[in-house]
Amino acid sequence: MRSWVDSSSQYCKMSNIDQLRNRIDEITLQMLRLFKDRTDIARQIGELKKSSGLGVTDEAREEQLRVRVTQMCKDIGLDESLGKKFLNFLLNESVKIQSEGKQTHLTVFLKAKALEQQGRKIIHMEVGEPDFMPPAAAKTGFDEAFDGGIVRYGPAAGMPRLRAALAEYAIRNFGANATAENILVSPGGRFAVYLAVNTLLNPGDEIIIIEPAWPAYRECAINAGIKVRTIQTRLEDKWEPSITQIEQAINSNTKMIVMNYPNNPTGKILAPAIQDRIVEIARKNDLYVLSDEIYSLYAYRDWKSVLANNYEKTIVTQSFSKSHAMTGFRIGYTVADKSIIDRMVKLQALCITNVAEPIQYAALKALNSDLVQYKKSMKSKLDTVSEEARRIGLEFLEPDGAMYVFARAGAGIFDGLDFTNRLLERGVAVAPGEGFGNYRGFIRISVAQDENKLKEGMKILDEVLKGYR
Ligand code: PLP
Repeated sequence: MRSWVDSSSQYCKMSNIDQLRNRIDEITLQMLRLFKDRTDIARQIGELKKSSGLGVTDEAREEQLRVRVTQMCKDIGLDESLGKKFLNFLLNESVKIQSEGKQTHLTVFLKAKALEQQGRKIIHMEVGEPDFMPPAAAKTGFDEAFDGGIVRYGPAAGMPRLRAALAEYAIRNFGANATAENILVSPGGRFAVYLAVNTLLNPGDEIIIIEPAWPAYRECAINAGIKVRTIQTRLEDKWEPSITQIEQAINSNTKMIVMNYPNNPTGKILAPAIQDRIVEIARKNDLYVLSDEIYSLYAYRDWKSVLANNYEKTIVTQSFSKSHAMTGFRIGYTVADKSIIDRMVKLQALCITNVAEPIQYAALKALNSDLVQYKKSMKSKLDTVSEEARRIGLEFLEPDGAMYVFARAGAGIFDGLDFTNRLLERGVAVAPGEGFGNYRGFIRISVAQDENKLKEGMKILDEVLKGYR
């Protein structure tokens, strides 16, 4: 039988728990009030930044706060990594608020499509979509898939035949050391990036992105509660990232660095020595390297895949969209260590079951098509636009590859967004630089168009630009 002493001490404990719970509740509510204040201030800062032409992220300012948070964690005895994760959550919320209404190549594309619906003619130089047809083998692949009954559910990682063929392709073209187990077939390179970020990183972790960059890396990370650390590169430095800056951005929460060469939007290909150095830094700090190599076919100087570095924490994302002009098929793939692929497959199975089998079969048939003409044609388009851009006085670095010219259209208060809107009214769509980072004075011109249209588009661009000078 329990004595009254037992039950009274039990009563005391319960009352203590209740008191402590009440305190926790109060602290939580107080934190929410402070969070609301913080959010309001972040919004005000965002408005001021917008009206002064400043970009959203300010790495130096964030670093100042990070140093203070680190010191405070030491002073009050809070785990430093936890403190920084909490800070990352707060910083991300500010970035989200301040990025509202930001325009990217996709917003311009949608506006251009809406104008076309009204019967307007638009020259599309905003999206990176090759204007050539996919290889004929993709078409016969469809018929064969239908006749052969390849029209059912399949394994989440992809058709075994396609995975095996992609592994061989990666060995031959990228110097990979791969088998079918190292391949995941996904609906486009975009989803491969999403899977990698969402399975390998956790909220509060940090990811390093070298800007200017394709916006989806940042958006994927922010959506998953991951803090983006930006390495800003400059036209004046030939878009080369500073190794010191990368090293300084790494801390115990840093988990991944993203590379994308040939680069969207600059067309830059890093010298192999710099690329190797970055992979070495990642290896030393145990970081994942996410290398998006979707433009590898369109490389017009020495290019090597990060797969050739043989670093086990490398994830290479690839696609049929650009190399095989198969954007509408929505098919891409990842090459990585089996343990990484297995994790990504689980999320893919959850989200989409598998990529449509007829699409996979068509891709299998198209994989080894002769792509020489695509490569030559893209080079000719790049040369045409570069020549026109030089003629009209744009500042840019001659692209080493990909399908874009990223040019400074104006300096100082020049507003690339206003410019792209005015240009769209004249029937030409280009992408504003601000979609790729803090590059307000820049525009990205996609060269994936018929050459006559490119010339006409550049002529109109020149006329609109003259209105600013
Ligand atoms: N990665 C980069 C750098 C891109 O520019 C794009 C599309 O423009 C993609 C990935 C997405 O390609 P996909 O069509 O395979 O999803």
